[in-house]
Amino acid sequence: MRKQITPCKELTRNLWWSWDTEAKEVFRELSPIIWERVNHNPVELLRHISNDELRARCQCDLGEKIERVNQRFADYISDKNTWAAEHAPELVKQPIAYFSAEFGIHESVRIYSGGLGVLAGDHIKSASDLGLNFVGISLFYKEGYFRQYLNHDGWQMEEYPLQYSENLPIEKVTGPDGKDLIISINIAQSEVFAQAWALKVGRATLYLLDTNIPDNESHYRDICCRVYGGDQNMRINQEILLGIGGVKLLDALNLSPAVYHMNEGHSAFLTLELLSKEIALGTSLEEAREKVKSRCVFTTHTPVPAGHNRFSRDMMHYTFDKYLSQNGIDFEELMLLGSEDRSNTFGLFTMTVLALNLSRSANGVSKLHGEVSRAMWQSLYADKPVSEVPIGHITNGIHTQSWVYGITDRFWRKHTDNIDNMTISREAAEAVLAQVSDEELWCLRYRLKRNLVDFISRYLANQLFHQHTFPVFSENDQSRTEKHTLSPDILTIGFARRFATYKRAPLIFRDLDRLNRIINHPNMPVQIVFAGKAHPHDDAGKDYIRQIIEHSRRPQFTGKVIFLENYNLGIAKRMVSGVDIWLNNPVRPMEASGTSGEKIVMNGGLNFSVLDGWWPEAYNGENGWSIGNGESFENHEEQDSFDAEKMYSVLENQIIPTYYERNEFNIPVQWLKKIRNAIATIAPIYNTHRMVKEYTTRYYLNR
Ligand SMILES: *Cc1c(COP(=O)(O)O)cnc(C)c1O
Repeated sequence: MRKQITPCKELTRNLWWSWDTEAKEVFRELSPIIWERVNHNPVELLRHISNDELRARCQCDLGEKIERVNQRFADYISDKNTWAAEHAPELVKQPIAYFSAEFGIHESVRIYSGGLGVLAGDHIKSASDLGLNFVGISLFYKEGYFRQYLNHDGWQMEEYPLQYSENLPIEKVTGPDGKDLIISINIAQSEVFAQAWALKVGRATLYLLDTNIPDNESHYRDICCRVYGGDQNMRINQEILLGIGGVKLLDALNLSPAVYHMNEGHSAFLTLELLSKEIALGTSLEEAREKVKSRCVFTTHTPVPAGHNRFSRDMMHYTFDKYLSQNGIDFEELMLLGSEDRSNTFGLFTMTVLALNLSRSANGVSKLHGEVSRAMWQSLYADKPVSEVPIGHITNGIHTQSWVYGITDRFWRKHTDNIDNMTISREAAEAVLAQVSDEELWCLRYRLKRNLVDFISRYLANQLFHQHTFPVFSENDQSRTEKHTLSPDILTIGFARRFATYKRAPLIFRDLDRLNRIINHPNMPVQIVFAGKAHPHDDAGKDYIRQIIEHSRRPQFTGKVIFLENYNLGIAKRMVSGVDIWLNNPVRPMEASGTSGEKIVMNGGLNFSVLDGWWPEAYNGENGWSIGNGESFENHEEQDSFDAEKMYSVLENQIIPTYYERNEFNIPVQWLKKIRNAIATIAPIYNTHRMVKEYTTRYYLNR
């Protein structure tokens, strides 16, 4: 008899599997139907499959695969020859603690809302791959972020299905006595208790704090109910739990981080706990501040004002009164640390200001965002010109292996044993590309698009059924499905992201006649796939969704403009692998970086974007297209008209003709040339391996 099945179960306890193509194939092959139904959650999948069945499958078709995957996993975990071992040995010994209010690692672990979380997830995966000693700190949200569905009117509705710890690959953290490890923090006049869960992400561990335990008053049990849920009071409670609770947890675990990295300002209260610890040792406030500063690193993520948490003085007073009195910090001193105007502590307390004041380095997430942030926060550094404001930049990337579809991964691995080899340098990417013929590359595109189109037709049937919108289009079942089927022969544009209004999702509908001519061109048609969630409190964002649904129901756009409900990591992955063009039209310079356009590259997609975020750095005229040239108008209407006009004309005159121009073998040679250029110039730079290396050498190491 072969090995027992337990190794397969072990595999489900570490999210390493989520970026291993063969591991995912094993789970899918166990039962394709259940795999879909459980949202690609292998822990849940295995609950539905008996040990007898597993054992039988191990004897025949899956045994070898499982053994191979297990071996690869064991090799990965025990590998000592990592990048960090060579370049940052001190960070193999002492951990980096990375605090983030959300982590988007895989769709089955719903503790993320959007780009910030996905970035944190990709960061922790690369930190693991590179061999850094890395722990993440976040919260266990039992309801996660909402599940989106649309009602008959196209209005976003939110559902909050519970996620159960027993269905997740998390373990309760226990103390030396074997009992649950419980930490306590002061919020307002109460003592609040939290337990912690550990989630393994390769070599890294992500700790999730959880107040949903019987020791707590009921309203504190709900602190970690939802990602970014509730009112200001809930926000501050979540942030105290994350920042102060996080430091306490690390102490309880006897971990002594070399660096505390605040991924966005949500976690900045961690600096207060570090201050308190110094003060308790008898250090003066002045000195304590310098000590804390020397251990903290801060990344700011948005120029959008609403993205920066601010709390009223009253709320700060109410919430921190007891905490401060126990820790010997004066309330006015605290307000000073978070006030934008140091001569007036009666205004709002800004988390970003606290983080900037108490970190040794700060950075934006693209070159342009670095510039914008220096101007935005210059008033804090009154003695310095904008160019000398101490905020640098490290441009965001993506964890490449997580963003290639299985089809894509297998395609490149015919020519190189690991897809990361192609992201080392332009030359390395070109060496692999040189082995791939145009016919093969075009075939890859067709396979990925077919995969997306088939997925959409299944997904939509369900979605339109519960929206009760089928009858609007047709009378009988047959034509229903036909009308909603996209075609892999047609140039396909994708647009998916959070529906924050600055991202202007409906911009392409500005001139409906012109869009009609583009979409319904007799020999060069176009189809568009949208997805995205609006924040539950953002009615303007929800109205954008409604508008797109309304347009998608116009007869000329039916079955050609599609909106997919419930954008998440799984939908994102299908979309970024299948579409030909990734459209991005934010109001410049509001998109700090954006990462979704980076995900399409290895799958053979091309970017079409406003020169905002990462795109002005990456765009070279040959590896995609730009909308405009960075022009800015004071007036919103003028900006929208200008950008829409540019968008239409580039589509009509460049993108569409290039796509449909074919040689005698029906290959779009110029199009494929652009794909090759994009892979060679973008994939080696806009990935989180490069990004985490940069964080390490520039900010984590303090040599
Ligand atoms: C990548 C990703 C994002 C971020 O996309 P942007 O381009 O930064 O807007 C948001 N949500 C999901 C699910 C993603 O995968």
